Amino acid sequence: MTALLEIRNVSRVFQAGEETVTALKGIDLTIEKGELLAIVGSSGSGKSTLMNILGCLDQPSAGDYRVAGKSVLGLFPDELAALRREHFGFIFQRYHLLGTLTAAENVAMPAIYAGLDPQARASRAKALLERLGLGERMDHRPNQLSGGQQQRVSIARALMNGGEIILADEPTGALDTRSGEVVLDILKELHRAGHTVIIVTHDMQVAANAERIIEIRDGLVLSDKRSVEMHAAPVATISSETGRPGWLGGFRRRLEDAFPMALRSMAAHRVRTFLTMLGIIIGIAAVVAVVGLGEGARQKVLAQINELGASTLSLFPGKGWNDERAAAITTLVARDADALSAQSYVSGVTPLITSTTRVRSDRASLNANINGVGPDYFRVNGMKVLKGNGFSAQSVSARKQIALLDDRTAETLFPNGEPALGRVIMIDRMPAVVVGIVSRPRSAAGDKTLQVYVPYTSASGRLFGESTSLSGLTVRVADGVDTGFAERAIVSLMTRRHGVKDFFVFNSDQMRKALESTSQTMTLLISSVAVISLIVGGIGVMNIMLVSVTERTREIGLRMAVGARRLDIMLQFLIEAVVICLAGSIVGVGLAVALAFALGGAGSEFPMIISLNSILAACAVAVAIGLTFGFLPARNASRLAPVDALSRE
Ligand code: ADP
Ligand code: MG
Repeated sequence: MTALLEIRNVSRVFQAGEETVTALKGIDLTIEKGELLAIVGSSGSGKSTLMNILGCLDQPSAGDYRVAGKSVLGLFPDELAALRREHFGFIFQRYHLLGTLTAAENVAMPAIYAGLDPQARASRAKALLERLGLGERMDHRPNQLSGGQQQRVSIARALMNGGEIILADEPTGALDTRSGEVVLDILKELHRAGHTVIIVTHDMQVAANAERIIEIRDGLVLSDKRSVEMHAAPVATISSETGRPGWLGGFRRRLEDAFPMALRSMAAHRVRTFLTMLGIIIGIAAVVAVVGLGEGARQKVLAQINELGASTLSLFPGKGWNDERAAAITTLVARDADALSAQSYVSGVTPLITSTTRVRSDRASLNANINGVGPDYFRVNGMKVLKGNGFSAQSVSARKQIALLDDRTAETLFPNGEPALGRVIMIDRMPAVVVGIVSRPRSAAGDKTLQVYVPYTSASGRLFGESTSLSGLTVRVADGVDTGFAERAIVSLMTRRHGVKDFFVFNSDQMRKALESTSQTMTLLISSVAVISLIVGGIGVMNIMLVSVTERTREIGLRMAVGARRLDIMLQFLIEAVVICLAGSIVGVGLAVALAFALGGAGSEFPMIISLNSILAACAVAVAIGLTFGFLPARNASRLAPVDALSRE
């Protein structure tokens, strides 16, 4: 029969700076199932080093160590973790309980890594605590328990996964005599129940409880005395293979286990967690708000363009907007408009004739800009008729002597709030009835010129003479006709009519595209600034997580001691980072939405439109940031060696 634990010529050499310390110098030891054994020796003799090797927390520098016949030489960290899970339960001098967990949760913790489901964990932890006389203290936190009680909690934890072999390093070292006796009695009782118990102590009185005492000095076995022959009874361990779900299910279970752990450690450092989140909150709020504002501006611009009608082409004399000789070009006339409206690809033409002349009412006289326009003009230019009506097609074709005033002109001609509608004004020598008031185009807010609108037929026929040239004309392209095609056709038609291309075409589609691309460029620009703030936030998260890993080294060591795999540790910290980022992003989105409400929806001056997509994208970005910036700290945590992590204060 193979021995339970078998150490052959094991040595352990530490490199401490320049010096090498040989803590164990070739130890041979065989431990059978069911022994109650004490390892004694003075401080610095190598007891803890030996125990760490026995418990697979550390590996020998030379020699061989076999657990149940299986050599630990060359095993990977996760394989060692599996050995610890399946065979060992640790009891430490300083208990090493996690302060944020209740007694029951501390006890249940090792079973998380053995893959036991939460209900089974809770009920087993409860049973163990009751067995150790702590049934009343289940929900207390470690700092609410006495030293003896804490040590009993840690014994329950050692038994959680079975604890076939209990390794106790100075279990009574921090306890008063009475509590120490209780702990020793429990260990003896566990021995009677079939557990193999190994107690490490410098206290001969404690060692006297054991049936076999191994004394070591300076890394060598000095004596090995056995007082009673052993009889072994089997111990039920929870194998990590029992009831273990499949790979995917296992991963989900790990996530489910790691999530509350993350929440707990976040809750334990609330202010710090909040400050960490702040970077993400600000970053996400900025990105979502900027994208929302960009989208709002885009939709507003689009709505304005859509008011222009689906597709319009405007013709103006000259080579372009800044052509100084354009005023001298008189070839664009009303008959061009007629010719254009006869084309199949044109659904309407709105000519524009402008000139400045004197306008009088019985109250005032002023110089105004006279616009001869078609019936579609106001709609085409996105101007609202505030009072009365615009021009109908009939009144235009009948050359009616009617006029619309812009609101400022109306106030000037009819001061003191006198009604303007229905009154007669003189435009040069033509009397006209005021039939409506229009709003000034927004683009003309700072423009002081006063505007009067009359049907273009009346303007050319009655005001400026039959041959007056047009200032421009706007063509509405028929539905289903490509504006590019219409533009080419119009250019060729008009060039033929004029004999030369003395006009230029303004395509509203081009404007739409130009406006869209500017607003997109703006959004992109501001977003990239916001993204930088997100990255800064992410670096903040990484920073705090690195601190947190350093601070929680002992917790990590403990989790590894009870059998956590590297992936488990990694997941725990990654999830913490992701949860912090996700929570931050939710608060950030909330802030952005609140801002959107404060700005007042789609109709306001600065509409902010936050789509579900941008919210989802924000959350996805937050998760990505958490994964990216949490990776390094999480990996650092998972790479820690269990002994180093445990021994760090
Ligand atoms: P004990 O538990 O019996 O008091 P240890 O096993 O802790 O003794 O230590 C044995 C010797 O090994 C001591 O001289 C100690 O300084 C040294 N030692 C233990 N761990 C380390 C380490 N990580 N690095 C360097 N030296 C170590
Ligand atoms: Mg020690």
